[in-house]
Amino acid sequence: MVVVMQEGASEAQIEGVVKRLVEMGMDVHRSTGVERTVLGAVGQGRPDATLIEMMDGVDEVVRISSPYKLASRTFKAEPTVVTVGDIRIGGDEVIVMAGPCSAENEQQVRSTAAAVRRAGAKILRGGAFKPRSSPYAFQGLGEEGLRLLRDAANAENLALVSEVMDISQIDLIERYCDIFQVGARNMQNFTLLRELGHRRKPVLLKRGISATIEEWLLSSEYILSGGNTDVILCERGIRTFETATRNTFDVSAIAMVKKLSHLPVVADPSHGAGRRDMVAPLARAAVAAGADGLIVEVHCDPDHALSDGAQSMFPAQFDRLMAELRIIAPAIGRSICLESAPRRGWGK
Ligand code: PEP
Ligand code: MN
Repeated sequence: MVVVMQEGASEAQIEGVVKRLVEMGMDVHRSTGVERTVLGAVGQGRPDATLIEMMDGVDEVVRISSPYKLASRTFKAEPTVVTVGDIRIGGDEVIVMAGPCSAENEQQVRSTAAAVRRAGAKILRGGAFKPRSSPYAFQGLGEEGLRLLRDAANAENLALVSEVMDISQIDLIERYCDIFQVGARNMQNFTLLRELGHRRKPVLLKRGISATIEEWLLSSEYILSGGNTDVILCERGIRTFETATRNTFDVSAIAMVKKLSHLPVVADPSHGAGRRDMVAPLARAAVAAGADGLIVEVHCDPDHALSDGAQSMFPAQFDRLMAELRIIAPAIGRSICLESAPRRGWGK
């Protein structure tokens, strides 16, 4: 249930409603909008809507029909902007995250980070713990990979996003990265999501391989209901009957989720396509469809990459893509990073 307070409702009135909802067995999440405060009541309780509606300062009580509440536009009409240092994900600017699928060695991480920064990326991506379909495939460098990624991100003034696969890795990854990535295979790892809800670093939540949009938003709800409001959704392609591409990149999900939810949505055209010659067209489509950002795999030597080489772009291809996005973004009222000089004001 969502309780919309009247414009100018006093703090005492708001607190009175919160107290009553808590007595009725609900958890209350507050969203302070420009004009009015909205209270999202979630939980197992059965609050009496009429009683709440009668309280001082209450304008209206809305029952949310979707199973997710805090992620919905009904709870929060204004878009959520997730802030990482001076980077704003979900604002006017399209934010690009790029880097290798996995951290492999110092030279690879450093040269790729420098290349993506020069092209205009603001966030370095790279996995140190890799969810591989085969247990015999490269599993990532672990903490050593995180160290390499952090050093390269600092050297280039980039923020860092890296995947957390298990609850036991959270503390370690939190020390190195700025955004936790939850991979497609873990979208319904509910204990992991709940724990990330208690942390205060943003979470990039990838859509599960066979997840519906509703299931994806319900997963975001696990994080939001723990109090972590900084969730970024990521469309990365889903499994369909089609075998020509690794996954079927669902552009419609980007437009749909922007309607259903206030959370920022980024697109991963690399895993969506599975082949580097299709990454640019899908990235262009994603931005045109309203994505708030992209996460793209780029490798300084993709033909020798230890994971996802076939879908990793050469730095020169990524550079061209960024130039194309600088034409597309303004056409739909968005901006995109123009700089190629080192960024200031980020990193240690
Ligand atoms: C990745 O980002 O390298 C990755 C493993 O992605 P996904 O979880 O979307 O497969
Ligand atoms: Mn990958």
